Amino acid sequence: MNLILLGAPGAGKGTQAEVICDKLQIPAISTGNILREAVKNGTELGIKAKGYMESGALVPDEVVIGILKDRIAGDDCKNGFILDGFPRTVPQAEALEKMGVVIDKVIEIFVPDEKIEQRLSGRRVCEACGASYHVDYKPSKVDGVCDKCGGKTVQRKDDQPETIKERLRVYHEQTAPLKDYYAKRGKLTVVEGQEEVADTTKLTLKAIEA
Ligand code: ADP
Ligand code: ZN
Repeated sequence: MNLILLGAPGAGKGTQAEVICDKLQIPAISTGNILREAVKNGTELGIKAKGYMESGALVPDEVVIGILKDRIAGDDCKNGFILDGFPRTVPQAEALEKMGVVIDKVIEIFVPDEKIEQRLSGRRVCEACGASYHVDYKPSKVDGVCDKCGGKTVQRKDDQPETIKERLRVYHEQTAPLKDYYAKRGKLTVVEGQEEVADTTKLTLKAIEA
């Protein structure tokens, strides 16, 4: 099964992607995590991507399309995959189609804008493995320490208030049109993000099984 998770930054795509990954035993692919790893390691890709990411802009299509294409060629993707944060523009969706990738379902995790800022400003991520937490909604068991790997949890640079506004603007301008794109193709299911992560998870799994 090939799935796409759509949603504004901070809507909880990453968290849901992890759950589906465990449940269906298919990899969750986050272009954001791949890019952050590259920035951390100072690779050529990281150097290219850093400025865009820190300002809240999107990394150019040709760059992320290349990353995605390489990643889904991996052996572990043979039985399907969950895309978290890709596609983010219509040209990226078209590129997927051109690669011959058939998408089974697109799930939008919908959270109204008012809530997004609150969610993003409380978000913490593990420096080591990328796992995502929230100080109020999904705290790690020990403050500042990742439940999964013991790494340090930190606030992302792009989760600072000024950058959050820009990311939301970019989301509405460039990513939101994908809802129509996939609705027209009969692939879109909207899941309303709930206060409790576990409740959103129930709805997401139901949407996948439907
Ligand atoms: P979010 O929490 O905003 O969903 P991600 O971790 O998915 O964030 O992505 C972080 C940043 O990485 C984005 O703001 C953007 O700069 C870049 N990025 C990730 N995926 C893509 C993509 N598919 N196209 C362009 N830029 C991307
Ligand atoms: Zn971790």
